[in-house]
Amino acid sequence: MTLNVNTRNVREEPSDLLLIHAAELATCSSAPRSDAGHDSDGPLCGAAMRDIGIIRDGAIAVRSGVIVDVGTTQEVISREPSGGASVGASGALGATQVIDASGRTVLPGFVDAHTHLVFAGERYREHVMRLGGAKYLDILASGGGILSTLTSTRSASLAELVAGAMKRLDTMLLHGTTTVEAKSGYGLDVDTELRQLEAAKLASEAHAVDVVSTFMGAHAVPPEFAGDPRGYLDFVKSVVLPAVAEQGIAEFCDVFCEEGVFSVEQSREVLLAGMEYGLRAKIHADEIFPIGGASLAAELGAVSADHLAAASPDGFRSLARAGVVAVLLPATMFTLMSEAYADARGMIDAGVAVALATDLNPGTSPTMSMSFVITLACLQMKMTPAEAVCAATRNAAWAIGRGDRAGTIQVGRDADFIVCDVPAVDALPFSVGVNPVRDVVKRGVHVVKSAGGGGLLCRSRI
Ligand SMILES: [Zn+2]
Repeated sequence: MTLNVNTRNVREEPSDLLLIHAAELATCSSAPRSDAGHDSDGPLCGAAMRDIGIIRDGAIAVRSGVIVDVGTTQEVISREPSGGASVGASGALGATQVIDASGRTVLPGFVDAHTHLVFAGERYREHVMRLGGAKYLDILASGGGILSTLTSTRSASLAELVAGAMKRLDTMLLHGTTTVEAKSGYGLDVDTELRQLEAAKLASEAHAVDVVSTFMGAHAVPPEFAGDPRGYLDFVKSVVLPAVAEQGIAEFCDVFCEEGVFSVEQSREVLLAGMEYGLRAKIHADEIFPIGGASLAAELGAVSADHLAAASPDGFRSLARAGVVAVLLPATMFTLMSEAYADARGMIDAGVAVALATDLNPGTSPTMSMSFVITLACLQMKMTPAEAVCAATRNAAWAIGRGDRAGTIQVGRDADFIVCDVPAVDALPFSVGVNPVRDVVKRGVHVVKSAGGGGLLCRSRI
């Protein structure tokens, strides 16, 4: 098919990259419902998550890394100022690079809103032990668990931590993730916490994927403070947090609010201390027991509450009222062979903005694939494919303070988008066990091209 360019409503300058003929293009850019009571721009809440703005035969025009036009292929081509040129299905338009997405589905680049990206060591033996029925305490007694990652990470150099993070970011980019949140919390001492955050910063500066950092000194109580969580919290507040804040290498402060880890009162204390240093709050909340982490997130106006597998309907309502994004992590439940998935349907029905993430970590969720997480969200938590796409893009971006740049395909936003080898959004969750992502564009650069032996074309910061 050849489209002739007309001169009506043309843009002033030609684009440098055009994507055309997407069978479905999910913009995720619908206006939030006005009765949601939140900002005019923000995550999509509740039923609005199903309105992901699909354009059939969709097209995107990009200039200098930014989206300058979105619409049907005919509309976008007609606005291209190319002086009577024409474009074939896979042809060139002047100097413009063209991606033909015929028969495929185009989405915003995935935003992975909860990861423990920077770590050293492996823990696959624990997974094998679990297959044999081992419980957490058995694993701990065998030298596994979080303390094994703590030991490995403390003994790793900055260069080793950066190299590990870069390798994981390569894999994530090949699976369509263009923005990632990364937590510290495997050091639990000043030097290693700072080194983890420094590694995330260096990886972000070097890699095409953007990395957003979270300080999570209150992830566990380290062995040197065994039996003295009070003493460790004081150390975090008076020594580690000020050092992190002084270096300006984290945007968020997170805490593991859970029975046997940090109580609601202790979590409040850590998060308030972080807020005093300008770090916005995030919470590992109500993962195993419903101790009130979701309500604490609402009380503090946290940007997100994460896990929530055991959260109560009261908790859902308080998250909805306070506009806290619920970040759900079904790959963790899958890896732990648990049936206790978060009640995504209950949250969406209560009007919560739900996001999804991998929870990438060596112990309980080694996956780096957001499309696998989407599969689990649909098959295990009964989210619709449209809800899952919204949760993995737009809502995830709002959960890490990047909603104004990432997570949607709309004019003025970063040109971060992916081409999936499925004919429709509804087909996406069912490509189980294969990577559906064929092409990735990050800030206007075609960084992953799977066709014709392409692969990862560019990993460098753009
Ligand atoms: Zn986590």
